[in-house]
Amino acid sequence: MPVQRTLSIIKPDAVGKNVIGDIIRRFEENGLSVIGTRMTQLSAAEAGRFYEVHAGRPFYNDLCAFMSSGPILAMVLEGQNAVVLNRQLMGATNPKEAEAGTIRADHADSIDANAVHGSDSVENAAIEIAFFFSGLELISRG
Ligand code: UDP
Repeated sequence: MPVQRTLSIIKPDAVGKNVIGDIIRRFEENGLSVIGTRMTQLSAAEAGRFYEVHAGRPFYNDLCAFMSSGPILAMVLEGQNAVVLNRQLMGATNPKEAEAGTIRADHADSIDANAVHGSDSVENAAIEIAFFFSGLELISRG
């Protein structure tokens, strides 16, 4: 399986619950390595740029408000099949539909406050990683 990089964000709800360590533990125990981290708080405009693909969707304004409501932890995960593996560990967007044992099943409160973001393709991962990180900030272990 190919070694890939993907962007993970621990969203404001999960940062507020103090479960950063639990979420990163799940990544590491499943073969993903953290190769860059950035804790920040986005402005609503920055959140809007990050989620531009959803502009015009009914939930877009609430999503931008939520993502800028508190600190987030953006990180780059590296490992075999990282994009799909991260999505599996996250669970479904709506925590009510998330498989037991996934991050969202255990930590998400609702479809909007759903604990984590993860890139959905290798192409989007590259775009999303570049939003938060310069190449110099990523320390590959491979
Ligand atoms: N979202 C929402 N309501 C919806 C669909 C999505 O609030 O009906 C939010 C939710 O926080 C989700 C984000 O928009 O994580 C991005 O949506 P996407 O479909 O890309 O889900 P994800 O890739 O995060 O599972």
